[in-house]
Amino acid sequence: MKRPHISKILKKVFLSTFGVLCFVVLFVSSEAASDRDKLVVGVPTNRCPIFYIDESTQETVGIGVDLIREVADKAGYDIVIENIAENNIKDALDNDKYDIVMPFGDSIKSTSGRDAIVTNDILETPFTLVTTKNAALPDITAARVGMPASLRGVAETVQNLHPGIKVVLYEDIDDSVKGLKNSEVDALLNNSYVWSYVLQKPSYINLHVQPSAMFSMGFKAGTLDTPEGQKIINRLNKGITLLEETKAEAIILDYTTRRLYKYDIFDYMYQYGAFIVLGTLLFIAVIGTMIFRQRSINLMQEEKMRLLIDHDELTGVYSMNGFRKRVEEILRDNPSVPYFISYNNILDFKFVNDSFGKETGDKLLKYWAKLSMENLSKNEAIGRVTSDQFVVLRQIEGNERFYEDEQNIVEPVNNFLISQGKDYKVQICSGIYVLTPDDIQNVDVDHMIDFARIAERKIRELGKTGFEIYNLNQWETKKRTVEIVGHLSSAIAQREIQVWYQPQVDFETGKIIGAEALCRWAHSGLGWINPMEFIPVLENSGKIYELDCYVWEKVCQDLQRWNRIGKHVSVSVNVSRSDISENPDIHMLFLDLIRKYELSPNQLHIEITESAYVKDSTLLIKTTENLRAIGFHVEMDDFGSGYSSLNMLKELPVDRIKLDLRFLSSEGFEEKGSIILTYLIKMIQLLGMEPLAEGVETIEQAQFLKSNGCTQMQGYYFHKPLSVIDFEELI
Ligand code: C2E
Ligand code: MG
Ligand code: MG
Repeated sequence: MKRPHISKILKKVFLSTFGVLCFVVLFVSSEAASDRDKLVVGVPTNRCPIFYIDESTQETVGIGVDLIREVADKAGYDIVIENIAENNIKDALDNDKYDIVMPFGDSIKSTSGRDAIVTNDILETPFTLVTTKNAALPDITAARVGMPASLRGVAETVQNLHPGIKVVLYEDIDDSVKGLKNSEVDALLNNSYVWSYVLQKPSYINLHVQPSAMFSMGFKAGTLDTPEGQKIINRLNKGITLLEETKAEAIILDYTTRRLYKYDIFDYMYQYGAFIVLGTLLFIAVIGTMIFRQRSINLMQEEKMRLLIDHDELTGVYSMNGFRKRVEEILRDNPSVPYFISYNNILDFKFVNDSFGKETGDKLLKYWAKLSMENLSKNEAIGRVTSDQFVVLRQIEGNERFYEDEQNIVEPVNNFLISQGKDYKVQICSGIYVLTPDDIQNVDVDHMIDFARIAERKIRELGKTGFEIYNLNQWETKKRTVEIVGHLSSAIAQREIQVWYQPQVDFETGKIIGAEALCRWAHSGLGWINPMEFIPVLENSGKIYELDCYVWEKVCQDLQRWNRIGKHVSVSVNVSRSDISENPDIHMLFLDLIRKYELSPNQLHIEITESAYVKDSTLLIKTTENLRAIGFHVEMDDFGSGYSSLNMLKELPVDRIKLDLRFLSSEGFEEKGSIILTYLIKMIQLLGMEPLAEGVETIEQAQFLKSNGCTQMQGYYFHKPLSVIDFEELI
């Protein structure tokens, strides 16, 4: 086994001995450090520069703190500074949380009445009087003196010294300054160090320090008069004797000069008030200008938008929106001026665009708008409805106005294309609506435009140009048209429309040979309406086919029902010209119907009005042939109502011709009418067709017809159109 070397053992012993020694030294010295006692010092924080809280460190600092720290250090204490929460020193004395409390000027009783003991003076503090700038030093023995409430202890001392003095306590220094300025007190009293600090405040510039110090007061620490308190005071007194004067002066100098007063926002406002006011004004002015500018930009944009909405881009006249607004404005401002509104439209403007190009069309519109605007006065207006349609509000100034406009506007516009080297004369149609007092009371611009438009349409539909003045009947008619056309489908669905039958008789035998189906409409809004009214309206609006299909089907249903009870009747149905243009294979439709309802084709007579043959002869002749090929009877309705031509009679492939007596026998023409009738009947028979006279109202008419060989008749003399029930009873 290897033995350890002797020097190594020695080294180990030395190291461990050294370690133990070090530990002992450290332990002893740490024991020595903790030998110093801890002293809790309660101080206020509202007495800058004596006691206050450093904003950057949040520590309680000040002349008083540094002084007591020095003194306590010399007395062998480590101090802990506690901010006293109580309102004043007297209250704080009763709180055993603090070992000592500061600052005292003299020994006083605690709030609960216990005696206190105090140290010797740590410092001699000069107390100074402050007055307003021009006030003289008041008589000290009878002055009213203001102090902050935190100096209640000092106030007691002062009153002991000068019983004639009246001390007024304020919440803080600022309040006391207000009291001084309001002459509630003659002077303020405070520690000179506090003044040296506080008077740096710019708003206190008018305060004046009275140079002769009023008195000095000791700056002491104190505690309750207890054995433990006495021990502390004794130790601190020892510390006070050890405090060098130079040290104390250095501390005071440090706080009253080096750590300068820090301005708060109000100080800046006070000192730089004028600049701040000016700056603020400038700022407000700049912001104000910016807001104003932004507002005007917004207003300009709004105005631009308004112009865009209210004006027509191409011509510069009002848009409909703008026109409405302007008319309302004008009529409101000129309620007693007579006005008319015209609706103006170029005839076949599409042709202008198609033949000469859109650009030329635009030029024409611009020219028209420009001329119109030049001729309008301030209280008149022009707007563009759409493409070539303009509305104008114009004052009525007798008939000359129309002729002037004709000369100044219409004629030049009519000749515009010619002046551009194009061989085309423009034509304008205008509808005019004269405003009534009611229109001016309750302005409804769209309504007035509608009236003018109706007049304009009327003149256009007549194929004329120039102007037409609106009348009330046109409006009523228009309204009824809308109610008729718009309501047709639901009228069919709700069975408002019925089929009635007017019997046709053979006057010779007295027998019923058939009937004509005529429709009747009990309109839910308008009541019973006459076919003479609604049939043309439906024909013009392209809706007649819908009605007729319904009637034809209804007739076939009735025929089937009668067939089933052994009553074989034939019925004439009316076919409008537009039914055939709507369905050129209408024969197939009828074929389907008779198949569906198991009818023979000769039970259905198809009445086509004479005028249809004149207008669309080729298609009509073809249709007639197709129908007859199936076996249907085809009849020409209303022969003699206006368009008859002998040539047509020759070409027509119909089975029967209905002669309407109402057209032939108008008053004063009876003699000539009967001559025509006599020869017509003959001609029809000679051409191989049968005549049927309708509109027979008297026995004389019937006998006359019979004597001329026409025995088939239909008319009120025999029967009026009958409802299905009545007709069924009859057959
Ligand atoms: P229309 O086809 O010539 O029908 C004869 C019209 O004369 C009927 O008028 C009938 O009531 C009337 N009438 C018959 N006898 C006399 C008489 O003795 N004296 C007078 N003053 N009038 C008589 P309504 O029913 O008012 O029909 C008028 C026209 O309406 C019809 O003339 C026809 O063209 C058309 N219509 C009627 N129902 C229909 C239909 O369902 N479809 C089509 N497309 N047109 C129809
Ligand atoms: Mg008829
Ligand atoms: Mg007829």
